Amino acid sequence: MTIDEKYMREAVKQAKRAAAAGEVPIGCIIVSEDKIIARGYNRRTIDKNVLSHAEINAIRKACKKIGDWRLEGCTMYVTLEPCPMCAGAIVQARIPRVVMGCMNAKAGCAGSVLDLLHQEGFNHQVITETGVLGEECSQMMKNFFKELREKKKQP
Ligand SMILES: [Zn+2]
Repeated sequence: MTIDEKYMREAVKQAKRAAAAGEVPIGCIIVSEDKIIARGYNRRTIDKNVLSHAEINAIRKACKKIGDWRLEGCTMYVTLEPCPMCAGAIVQARIPRVVMGCMNAKAGCAGSVLDLLHQEGFNHQVITETGVLGEECSQMMKNFFKELREKKKQP
């Protein structure tokens, strides 16, 4: 197992916490100096808050831990390609590297719909990797929506 896979496994654990709470399974962790400094999962429905994405929750905790709004020495691991809001926050926090599980063709902003993480005009560009435990992350999303559809079918 590579180091990226090891940390992505921790992000997957967070995604499973989201799924257990009935949320879309997206998980995120932030690593600094080979240590996990923050964990987050999607809590949009529980928190009744559109801002409560896995990445935003993890960024908030990482900033508190580091005591700075800049997360310059950090790597983010996230199970799904970030949305526009989270990609924006990643650029704002100047996170140098983001490792993704699977891509999000309908909302992703690291290359799918838009590419905010590699936008030349911005003062910060992100190094990205994708497909780390990609099959597992993608299957987790598919299973969640499949179960949701089945639940809806029941009278
Ligand atoms: Zn997001």
